[in-house]
Order: sequence, then C-alpha cells, then structure tokens
Amino acid sequence: GIVLGIESSCDETAAALVTTDRRIIAQRIASQDAEHAPYGGVVPEIAARAHAEKLAPMIAGVMADAGLELADLDAIAATAGPGLIGGVMVGLVSAKALAMASDVPLIAINHLEGHALSPRLADPELQFPYMLLLVSGGHCQILLVEGVGRYRRLATTIDDALGEAFDKTAKILGLGYPGGPAVERLAKEGDARAVPLPRPLVGSGEPHFSFAGLKSAVLRAKESGKYGDADIAASFQQAAVDCLVDRLRIALDVSDSVPALVLAGGVAANQAVRTVLEGLAAERGMRFVAPPLALCTDNAAMIAWAGVERLDSGQSDPLDIAARPRWPLDPSAEPVRGAGY
Ligand code: ATP
Ligand code: MG
Ligand code: FE
Repeated sequence: GIVLGIESSCDETAAALVTTDRRIIAQRIASQDAEHAPYGGVVPEIAARAHAEKLAPMIAGVMADAGLELADLDAIAATAGPGLIGGVMVGLVSAKALAMASDVPLIAINHLEGHALSPRLADPELQFPYMLLLVSGGHCQILLVEGVGRYRRLATTIDDALGEAFDKTAKILGLGYPGGPAVERLAKEGDARAVPLPRPLVGSGEPHFSFAGLKSAVLRAKESGKYGDADIAASFQQAAVDCLVDRLRIALDVSDSVPALVLAGGVAANQAVRTVLEGLAAERGMRFVAPPLALCTDNAAMIAWAGVERLDSGQSDPLDIAARPRWPLDPSAEPVRGAGY
C-alpha cells in the first residue's frame, strides 16, 4: 500500500509518499525559516499563509515525482494537531478535499505520534514496547510506547521544551533562527566545563524536566561578559544533555525493563544528545534507535508512516474530523504543575 502524508503544523510545509514496506518513494519539504527569521521565531499568520501557498503544488509535485494518481493511494494522512491552528487547518482541509474527491480514506495524525513512530519507519527491527525520549520544539517527554495509539507518558517538562531552550540560547548568543543546529555547531568550538550552569530537577525522584532556569542562567552568563559564546553554547548543551540522562535513568529505574531506548523529535538531530543516549542504552543493555537526521525534524514521511501504521490497524477518520491545536499523546496524563502536556 501507499500513503500520502501531509505536514503543516509549524513552519515546515511537507508532503511525502511512503509504502507499507517502509519505502519513502517521494518527498518534498519547504522550510519557512527565511520568512520567520526577521522575527526571531515563528509568526503564526505568516506560517498559515505560507502553507496555503505552498501545499497544493507540493502535493501535486510528490504525486508527479512518483508518477501516481490519487486513486493509486491507500490513504491520505495529515497532521490534525497539535500545533499552530492556521497551518494545521490548511493541511487537514487539503487532505479532506483530496480524500473526498478521490474516495480514498483520510487519517488524522497526531504530529507527536508522527515523531513517536518515526523510529519504526527508519528501523524495521524496532518492535513495541520501547522507551521513547521525544524532544522537540514544543515538547520534552518520556513515553513508554506500547503500540500504535498506546502511549504512556512517564515524564514531561514543567516549563520549556528543550528545543525551545536551544532556540532561546541561540537568540541570546545572536545565532539567529532556527537555533538548535547553530548552537550545536558553535558548541563544538567551546569548553563544556567553562560556564557553571544549573541542571534543573537533576536528582529529583520523578523523571520530569525543567529548562527555564537553564535558559535564564545562559542569559546571565552572556550578560556577565565573562565567557565566550562558544563556551556558553558548549556548557549549555552539556547541561541539557546531563538533565536528559539523569531524568531517563529515573524513568528506566521505575519502569519494567524494555528492550530499546529510542530518540525522536527535532532535538534528536543533535549529535551530543544521540551520543549520550547511545551510551546510556549500552550501559543498560538496551538497543539504541534514533532516526536519521532528516526524519527527526518535522517532515511528512513520518506523518505518512503513522498513517501506514494506523491503516494497518484498520483505522481511518471521518471527513468532518476537527483540527486540534492541543492534543496530548497520552490523554490520561495529568498536566504537571499547570505546565501543560
Ligand atoms: P513539536 O514537534 O513539539 O510540535 P516542532 O514541530 O516545532 O515542535 P521539531 O521540528 O520537531 O519541533 O523540532 C524543532 C526543534 O528542534 C527546534 O527547537 C530546533 O532548534 C531543534 N533542533 C533541530 N536541530 C537541532 C540540533 N541539531 N540540536 C539541537 N536542537 C535542534
Ligand atoms: Mg521548523
Ligand atoms: Fe515536530
């Protein structure tokens, strides 16, 4: 089977065709970095307009790349949330129109499920259950992935997401937007022990995360004028990585043993994060799985793949399904200290 995936929840417009046997047969992606860079972050109205302009030709493009007609598809999967509602609506409404016109089933995908299942697109050997660290621009969670649609949230951030902390650190250091890759590059030239920075919540008994205090400490370090930017970047990245490992240790300690430790989301593109998690997995006798970099940051192949997995389990959605700006992966998880999901 073949599933068309559509992603438009933030500032990447993307379409991809993925087969049941894990082949990405076509994909296109347009980043809006240039549109948002002057504002130092994503402007929702600009994002929605850019998605509206780019998506239809992009879908036609991937269909043409693969030499397929809509009638050849087994399903159309689109991100239906969480994210910026204007962009999500553009993608979901396009998917509905195509599904209706061609009588192909629609599958509404939770963007976080796209990230959570992306490692299984990359690695055919990865079976359920697995322990997942989902680190992205808007989320930082530890999830026990028990199956398609079965996610148990073990931990979340009580304030900022880690991607957000990378982006704010980039802003403080004048590295522009988007910040994660720029901070990682600069960190390579710095000394990770040069700047004393906090490791929020490290040592606490519950595996939650907190990055707001780290971000403020980065700002104070910069303003003190005592440290070079590369040392600040390296020390920030080290502090972040230390938090991830410490929190994951707690989650692994309190959970039944699972065979694989898995990393996904935009921050999973960070090599320092990948390296420490690989070490932790080795120490615990677990397999380590992280998708290739292009599948970590937002893309449509992961949405198409989540569609494949949902289709496999016999699921599709009605054409009147609504977009959801907020949509927790684990609906039973309580907000932590009011910080959301
Ligand atoms: P969410 O998935 O939570 O809705 P999002 O879709 O905006 O948020 P992603 O595209 O999954 O987020 O990830 C983008 C984030 O990943 C940004 O904050 C970006 O700075 C960060 N990021 C990307 N590459 C790297 C890297 N190499 N190192 C650190 N952070 C990175
Ligand atoms: Mg982006
Ligand atoms: Fe994302």
